[in-house]
Amino acid sequence: MFKKILVANRGEIALRIQRACRELGIKAVMVYSEADREAKYVKLAEEAVCIGPAASGLSYLNMPAIISAAEVTDAEAIHPGYGFLSENADFAERVEKSGFQFIGPTPESIRIMGDKVSAKQAMIRAGVPCVPGSEGELPDDPVQIRRIAKTIGYPVIIKAAGGGGGRGMRVVHTEAALVNAVTMTKAEAGAAFGNPAVYMEKFLQNPRHIEIQVLADKHKNAVYLGERDCSMQRRHQKILEEAPAPGINRKLIERVGERCVAACKKIGYRGAGTFEFLYEDGEFYFIEMNTRVQVEHPVTEMVTGIDIVKTQIMVAAGEKLPFTQRQVEVRGHAIECRVNAEDPYKFTPSPGRITMWHAPGGPGVRVDSHVYTNYFVPPNYDSMVGKIIVHGDDREQAMARMRTALAETVVEGINTNIPLHRELLVDAKFMDGGTNIHYLEQWLEQHK
Ligand code: ADP
Repeated sequence: MFKKILVANRGEIALRIQRACRELGIKAVMVYSEADREAKYVKLAEEAVCIGPAASGLSYLNMPAIISAAEVTDAEAIHPGYGFLSENADFAERVEKSGFQFIGPTPESIRIMGDKVSAKQAMIRAGVPCVPGSEGELPDDPVQIRRIAKTIGYPVIIKAAGGGGGRGMRVVHTEAALVNAVTMTKAEAGAAFGNPAVYMEKFLQNPRHIEIQVLADKHKNAVYLGERDCSMQRRHQKILEEAPAPGINRKLIERVGERCVAACKKIGYRGAGTFEFLYEDGEFYFIEMNTRVQVEHPVTEMVTGIDIVKTQIMVAAGEKLPFTQRQVEVRGHAIECRVNAEDPYKFTPSPGRITMWHAPGGPGVRVDSHVYTNYFVPPNYDSMVGKIIVHGDDREQAMARMRTALAETVVEGINTNIPLHRELLVDAKFMDGGTNIHYLEQWLEQHK
């Protein structure tokens, strides 16, 4: 096992990884930008290195600064967390070339999954069900583009191969708008992602977002840890997640989970990963794979009792997965609410000093957050300041616990989206379960 790991991230996930290291008896080196000096995990750190100014480009995305920090502290491995450099294949490669273990999959796996066209092709080969669409990148010829769209059937969605974060997508309803939409998406993709390649998919009208968590080791073992329902989204950003997904037949989940495991084995995947699917009319359609730990991983940890971050570290060190698929059991129900420093209904960011932070507690309640009373939320990064996660014997109990937890939470000095979560937790449709990816935006529209 490693003796020392460098945590190349910030915020709640930096604290989460630090906690996993402590449990494993590993020293964690924290890195921070000038704006993050006061973060809880920096204060709690045995060793912390300032890697640059507030701007992410000069700190959390600064590969030489991060690698030098690992060198000067004698760390053996680097955990990239999520966001920042976590899905950057060049970073993973540079980390390994510099003699450190990258806590994640191989640079090659990251590269294949980072290009959505090659990811989809790999999934089709591995027998994972995908959204019907173009077999790869779209050609330039308008006649061929129209033919492909006709075969798929309108509406279609044009997506950038290098896209991410909900950007680089355009829905097309008619043939008249098609060729222009392709040209525009290509131009935008070239400018935004440095890769003008686009592909086409059938546009699903009312899907849910269901994802499968996997863990794999370096010895060809892989398991899936059930699913998460992340349909509650605004502008493709998830705000509330739960496990298991309400109302989906367990046999269907098993079948798609087994396909994901088979795909991991086929591509030599290692570490934690998530297969994201759209689910509509009883069918799963793969859209992309995330090759890192996700924000919403705690709901899976709560229902399976498996520590995903610790397991990531153990398999990166070469250990075998400490459990088999048969030992993975989903028990009860978990819900996560992301707490963002923003106006709850207008969504304008609300950084600044937190004058009062009181976290909830009680049976089945978990809070992952790096903030505290008097902490200053810097304006430079993502607005998420923490996550409230609850577990219950069933969905009813989980919802009741979340309502209590949200009622107990006090945050003063900044605005948060907690009032929105409180309303959602008593919304009749949410309480029924199984709302689709458009539900929150429609709800917000009606509650203006
Ligand atoms: P990103 O990497 O930018 O997150 P994804 O491929 O994961 O892109 O898609 C993001 C979101 O866009 C999905 O969660 C879904 O809401 C919507 N979307 C993507 N593809 C389709 C599709 N074929 N039909 C309907 N909605 C889609």
